[in-house]
Amino acid sequence: MQRINLREIGEAKRKYWDCIVPFLLKNKAGLLFDLKKASNNSSTPFFSDIIIEAEKASNDSDYLSALEKLIFASLDEMATLPAKTSNGRNTFKTEYKTINKINDDVGAKCFKDIMEILEVRICPYCNHAFIDYETAFQKDHFFAKSKYPLLTLSFFNLVPSCSYCNTKKSTKEIHDIKLNPYHMNFNDDAIRMKAVIDTEKTGSIKDLIDLRFCYSSNDYHEFYLKKLKLETIYKNDIGHVLDKIRAYSIYNEFYQKLLSENSVFRNQKGIQAFISELCDIALHSNTREGKPNKNILYKLDKDIEEEFEKEI
Ligand SMILES: [Zn+2]
Repeated sequence: MQRINLREIGEAKRKYWDCIVPFLLKNKAGLLFDLKKASNNSSTPFFSDIIIEAEKASNDSDYLSALEKLIFASLDEMATLPAKTSNGRNTFKTEYKTINKINDDVGAKCFKDIMEILEVRICPYCNHAFIDYETAFQKDHFFAKSKYPLLTLSFFNLVPSCSYCNTKKSTKEIHDIKLNPYHMNFNDDAIRMKAVIDTEKTGSIKDLIDLRFCYSSNDYHEFYLKKLKLETIYKNDIGHVLDKIRAYSIYNEFYQKLLSENSVFRNQKGIQAFISELCDIALHSNTREGKPNKNILYKLDKDIEEEFEKEI
């Protein structure tokens, strides 16, 4: 739902590499054994060549430079890999002990640092939950570990996620790499939320408002609405939507005129700028900084603001 900003991606990759290298070296024999097995089960020339190069390396430097290609494989390269038939998470753990151990051992501290570099504080899948770095940090394997063991440690396969999305997504097959929040063509607007006021209904204003989800293709519908069930997690945010509608009703042209005619403000220099700033704070309190990965419900607010501003 919200793309990860890749402005500092170089620094983030360097950080990950520094974290993972000691584990790649310490577990060299076991790791090569696991990778070979994964490569035999399902691989493409790109990945097989990496494993052969790592196996043949005569020193640590050559071994690491081969593995670096695997660790930083692009999403397009990853997408070429056919899924290995798997019996699930537990089988993965027993079949790929070393990969699994390294995956566990590259600690939360390392990912916390990476996410701080990339300024990710909100789950990019739902944009509805903070990522709790201290207690509940989750890294979702975009291509599931059990089906794509070769990609278990690959940087762009590790998506910061809230526990809800990580659990919902689970090991289900995903083919569309554009759904990966690191993807350059990740489309923030593939899913849009719209506040709808149902005038046929009766009751308090809260009862009349509904939040609708629009999607640009069936893939997005399948992923966000059927798999992640975003409608369920957003259904309790009607109060928030109502506050936005209230803000738009209050901070209208009439209000701005009223303020500019008020004796306190009249004849003051820069009054228009002051009023516009005031309205901007009231209407775009969550979005004006332009930090979609840092502010919770940023996407909801932005979608509603755009709808309102289209109509004004
Ligand atoms: Zn989430």
